[in-house]
Amino acid sequence: MLKQKTERNTAQKSFIFGYLKSVKTHPTAETVYKEVRKKLPSISQGTVYRVLNTFKDKGEIQVIDTKNNVHFDADISDHAHFICENCGNVYDVIDECSKCGILKSKKVKVGKINKYQIKFYGKCRNCLP
Ligand SMILES: [Zn+2]
Ligand SMILES: [Zn+2]
Repeated sequence: MLKQKTERNTAQKSFIFGYLKSVKTHPTAETVYKEVRKKLPSISQGTVYRVLNTFKDKGEIQVIDTKNNVHFDADISDHAHFICENCGNVYDVIDECSKCGILKSKKVKVGKINKYQIKFYGKCRNCLP
């Protein structure tokens, strides 16, 4: 019985991780739950939230905390995010940032940068007039 439960949890976990890996939309926990439920109708919201937290604690996914929501990203490489203050969408900002001298060298006066999290706030292309 216990083994069965563990196996089911593992399957759910890898499905959630696979879903996160497959999207670039930085979904919220609610969106992850809605999307995953399409394939795993019996999954509970609590399970999804718990699994997301486990991934987060293990550093397997990153969390982008905007003013209004918490978004998840399975891409844990160094990249900055652009948060649209109008629609709330979160976008990856990669090219623009890799050109910044400071991020390239990873050295600042106070020490060496191991990882960073940068958030830009503004209006995305879809929301600009
Ligand atoms: Zn927008
Ligand atoms: Zn991202």
